[in-house]
Amino acid sequence: MKLLEVRNLKVFFPIKDKLFGKPDKFVKAVNDVSFHVEKGEIFSIVGESGSGKSTIAFTLMGIYRKNNGDIVFNGKKIENIGDFDLLRKRIQIVFQDPDSSLDPRKRVRDIIGEGLKIHKIGTKAEINRKIEDVVEKVGLTQDILKKYPHELSGGQKQRVGIARALILEPELLILDEPTASLDVSIQAQILNLLVELQERLGLTYILITHDLNLVKHISDRIMVMYLGKVMEIGSTAQIMSGPLHPYTKALLASVPVPDPEKRNEDEETLTGEIPSPLNPPEGCPFRPRCKYSMDDCWNELEPIEMKERIVFCHLYKEHENSGGV
Ligand code: SF4
Repeated sequence: MKLLEVRNLKVFFPIKDKLFGKPDKFVKAVNDVSFHVEKGEIFSIVGESGSGKSTIAFTLMGIYRKNNGDIVFNGKKIENIGDFDLLRKRIQIVFQDPDSSLDPRKRVRDIIGEGLKIHKIGTKAEINRKIEDVVEKVGLTQDILKKYPHELSGGQKQRVGIARALILEPELLILDEPTASLDVSIQAQILNLLVELQERLGLTYILITHDLNLVKHISDRIMVMYLGKVMEIGSTAQIMSGPLHPYTKALLASVPVPDPEKRNEDEETLTGEIPSPLNPPEGCPFRPRCKYSMDDCWNELEPIEMKERIVFCHLYKEHENSGGV
């Protein structure tokens, strides 16, 4: 069952040369992106910095405004500010850097309970009970509630961030690079906690990351993005064992391996820099870095559906609507 459906989403940021007047250019941070998230799944959005993955998260949270496209949550089209206010209760986010996302002047109790107060949910006693419950759920002890963020370790801060997101009992949790700023030893603990919570509470996650090693272990499906566009969507098994898009292949080949000498020499490698989003390439955005680039690649890409996966690449044009590779 679909919990979230995003259709043809566009989020453009205007750039002005002068203080007043019309914008001269637009950064097309998210350009015609469509995907859906099933209830109870872990859906990962993967890409380098500047791919548009975090912009999608902030747009779903109502922090950025969409220029075009539809967002449908639980069958309801989200159209106006009132709809986004409702959505803010149902969708919560865990930020990458717990240091900058926790207010240093507030005690943990107030940080975790803030969402309930903003949305005016519960009496003081009910709020306290919920705070104590959620602290236990994320594996912290009650004494942490009187502390300030600077008194906590990196792992504890991220657990507080998770507790703050969970207290509103969201249906969808967005995890924006949730382990990227943590020590390697703590990353596994936080990841295990997130997986355990997802199973125990029947949550749905959108995991945003550049780390394919991370998604390999926990996600059900993956969407690969590049320069504001979707490159490929498929199950984790499909994408990890047989990526179709040249960009996905290059991303996978850049994942560190214990013995680099055993790498297959034919593996794609990612060369060149990601182009400026202010001046994206015509046609396929990956064209300047793709060794298979051909004349067709100057044309806009249409989604090609193959065996329950979607790829945006002219190499697969002949498979369009054939149902197979
Ligand atoms: Fe390469 Fe063309 Fe496919 Fe883009 S559409 S990834 S340039 S082959």
